[in-house]
Amino acid sequence: MRYVSTRGHAPSRDFAGVLLTGLAEDGGLFMPETWPHFSAADWRAMRGLSYADLAARVMTPFVGESIPFATLTSICRESYAGFGHPAVAPLVQLESHLFAQELFHGPTLAFKDLAMQVLGRLFDHVLAERDTRVTIVGATSGDTGSAAIEACANRERIDIVILHPHGRTSEVQRRQMTTVLAPNVGNVAIEGTFDDCQDLVKALFADAGFRTEMALSAVNSINWARIAAQIPYYVAAALALGAPDREVAFSVPTGNFGNILAAWAARRMGLPIARLVVGSNRNDILTRFFEKNDMSMTPVEPTLSPSMDIQVSSNFERLLFELLDRDPVATAAAMRGFRETGRMTVPDTTWHRVRGVFHAFRLSDPETVAEIRRLYTACGYLADTHSAIGIAAARAHPCAHGVPTVAMATAHPAKFPDAIEQAIGIRPALPARMADLFERPERFTVLPDDLAAVQANVRALVGRNSG
Ligand SMILES: *Cc1c(COP(=O)(O)O)cnc(C)c1O
Repeated sequence: MRYVSTRGHAPSRDFAGVLLTGLAEDGGLFMPETWPHFSAADWRAMRGLSYADLAARVMTPFVGESIPFATLTSICRESYAGFGHPAVAPLVQLESHLFAQELFHGPTLAFKDLAMQVLGRLFDHVLAERDTRVTIVGATSGDTGSAAIEACANRERIDIVILHPHGRTSEVQRRQMTTVLAPNVGNVAIEGTFDDCQDLVKALFADAGFRTEMALSAVNSINWARIAAQIPYYVAAALALGAPDREVAFSVPTGNFGNILAAWAARRMGLPIARLVVGSNRNDILTRFFEKNDMSMTPVEPTLSPSMDIQVSSNFERLLFELLDRDPVATAAAMRGFRETGRMTVPDTTWHRVRGVFHAFRLSDPETVAEIRRLYTACGYLADTHSAIGIAAARAHPCAHGVPTVAMATAHPAKFPDAIEQAIGIRPALPARMADLFERPERFTVLPDDLAAVQANVRALVGRNSG
């Protein structure tokens, strides 16, 4: 399997190349050259597999020759062995045709663990084959950093340094990062804001000498391997509900468009998905696009569902590429226009085609709190703010003919306890396996907002581990 850039001016690569590169050199995103296709018989043959074995089966056409199937299977088994639920991504029934799929049983209680755990191990495998190492650096306001740290901790070929704004993350979020004491993990608390942290990371990458010396890399959400590792849970849910002999729909609380793009990919691979529903909070650029073919940037506003507070959904470019019949010239032109004018529309016929699959819905903060309360009262189900948006979006766009909708529950309620307390007056407890989070020892270094200080810190960590 080869991968091409959505903008057409980067060399094609195999899976290992795409994994290590992330963003293509022309600023585009990598897409598989052709979509793998599974027949009805192929899907049926996957029924009854464990989640990890199913994941290896679904990912193998994307991985191609880069990693042998047996190795991929062990990587998937190891990735999901530490999850807090034996089904990894269990379904919970909420109404006769509405289900939640819980994607929050991983080490950091949010859906990004499902892909990140695999990604860290894929990196290790490919780096060992090339006998090299990388240093992953990133900035976090709380959530993505912890998933990346958990994924990279104790990996042999990776060092990871994550910057967070000192005193400006919640205690749960900080502890999820700083209590990981693996020797290859560095947590740096910057005396500044999240934007200062992000600027420091950009400056680290912009220093070409430092970048090469440290072999800097990132694990951001545009990495194709993350999308590939998110396809299996859509397959698992669909098979459990009767696919390929029955259609299903999915509703996804959406930010960067990575999660729902994986559902789109599953559909392209032949899974009978009748409908995809995009859920957003008041940062509703995607909902406006799907409702009236108007994608226009507005400033980001903070909400109770912070992981969906976005101005631009970077993975949308992949859908755009598909909608424009994989024309890289048209895709590059549309993205350039979007950057210059802050607005994008697609041709009418294209938009009507996409509306045949995608529906969209938005929820304000008060509506989200009300939905958490309603769900708890109606069926005793406790959803976090992000999950509640996905569930409300599914209820707003039910399918006909008894087609069930599965709403993605992307975070554990204990991750955003304030909103839950506001909704039902109860503070949700952490799962038993992390009940001691507040007693665990922490390790982090406080540094000023100063590039040289951060560089010295990264160099020291890498020096200790590569010797
Ligand atoms: C990252 C995240 C999202 C958004 O997912 P995208 O792939 O960026 O669309 C939704 N909910 C939670 C809890 C998240 O962490």
